[in-house]
Amino acid sequence: LGGSITRALHKMNNTTVIDEKALTDCLNEINRALLQSDVRFELIRDMQINIKNIVNLEQLAAGHNKRKIIQQAVFDELCRMLNPGKPSFVPKREKTSVVMFVGLQGSGKTTTCTKYAHCYQKKGWKPALVCADTFRAGAFDQLKQNATKAKIPFYGSYMESDPVKIAVEGVERFKEEDHDLIIVDTSGRHKQEASLFEEMRQLSEATKPDLVIFVMDSSIGQAAFNQAQAFKQIVAVGAVIITKMDGHAKGGGSLSAVAATKSPVIFIGTGEHMDQFEVFEVQPFVSRLLGMGDLSGLIDKIHGVVPMDQQADLVQKLSKGNFTLRIMYEQFQNALKMGPMGELVSMIPGFSSELIPQGHENESSAKLKHYMTMMDSMTNEELDSSNPKLINESRMMRIARGSGRLVREVLELMEVYKRIAKEFSKISRCRNPQDMVKSFP
Ligand code: GDP
Ligand code: MG
Repeated sequence: LGGSITRALHKMNNTTVIDEKALTDCLNEINRALLQSDVRFELIRDMQINIKNIVNLEQLAAGHNKRKIIQQAVFDELCRMLNPGKPSFVPKREKTSVVMFVGLQGSGKTTTCTKYAHCYQKKGWKPALVCADTFRAGAFDQLKQNATKAKIPFYGSYMESDPVKIAVEGVERFKEEDHDLIIVDTSGRHKQEASLFEEMRQLSEATKPDLVIFVMDSSIGQAAFNQAQAFKQIVAVGAVIITKMDGHAKGGGSLSAVAATKSPVIFIGTGEHMDQFEVFEVQPFVSRLLGMGDLSGLIDKIHGVVPMDQQADLVQKLSKGNFTLRIMYEQFQNALKMGPMGELVSMIPGFSSELIPQGHENESSAKLKHYMTMMDSMTNEELDSSNPKLINESRMMRIARGSGRLVREVLELMEVYKRIAKEFSKISRCRNPQDMVKSFP
């Protein structure tokens, strides 16, 4: 997606005469890209109308950077669309909160419940989990397993078949035990069946949740809007969590879920593991969706700098989001090859301003060389892992000694690595590696 939008904007270079038609053509191309990314057609249409109102043709004609103006307008508008205000309720420590999770079967409710509880537990809360899914065989076992692993108290039953009864009992029990956050996991069905909605309505009436969270699988694509709307019509959805953002989903469905529920996305799930859970932030998400300051430019550069036979390989590595120290090393190497401070490095998100301040290109090259010397003292295992924890204090001291640098510098290198790796994983998550490889001519 980022690539197609970049292309659309590139077509409109600064010599293009900007008239109504040129703007429409450019927006149409952006719209096509958004549609491919599962953004709902109606939302795109609204956005186009708004952007035409925002973007002032005269301003464009006056020789300002047209691409920037349009890109900024699209960015702002998408941010606005993803920003419907605060969730209907935010748990507070003083009073016990009941939070109910709803969503289709397989959307990730049970997994996400535990992640959510774990996230609060880490902050010192006392969460507890209630399994009100009596529909799916093994549902209670699954919750029990997750909860046990996370050391979170849970409630459920193998015998009782009435989910409402279990939910009420569980909530009461945990209220008595002074838990401050009680999370109710509900069942789902494959489809939006009447029986599911009736059960959900009864559960909501009986447990009176302070917050209902709608959990949606990011890969459902264009179906997102109707699905979210169907849930919102039955229960008072007040927040959304999007799961499986680690897959190849393009993420556009998030906009639909927000529009349909008029509720914000509060977290995203980025893997099956408990810690693969992030607070949702609108602006980085939209940047990723649009491919701004991201790999799309970098990939063009890779084409120019990285030897042909290594290109696809590097793109594959990057798209997996496993940004290892070795990949960073190779990037530094390429950057240095490019002469006075590689443009490539300046395109790595989160890298440019600090490492290569304007006018200090020579010092930056020296710094990169020092970083590489330190990496030369690392083991293969360390270079090929994407887990910076491998390099503990004693390893840092060893690396410093081995490379003749200071421990402080090794520490700095690891900070740089973590920051870049984080940027890369954010960006690569929403990308289809196939698209990336195809973007080579
Ligand atoms: P439920 O039916 O809504 O309760 O969904 P589950 O919590 O049982 O999840 C269904 C499947 O999706 C399980 O295999 C989970 O491990 C998986 N899953 C849930 N969240 C994520 C996520 O963020 N990323 C990935 N890759 N898998 C997830
Ligand atoms: Mg479940």
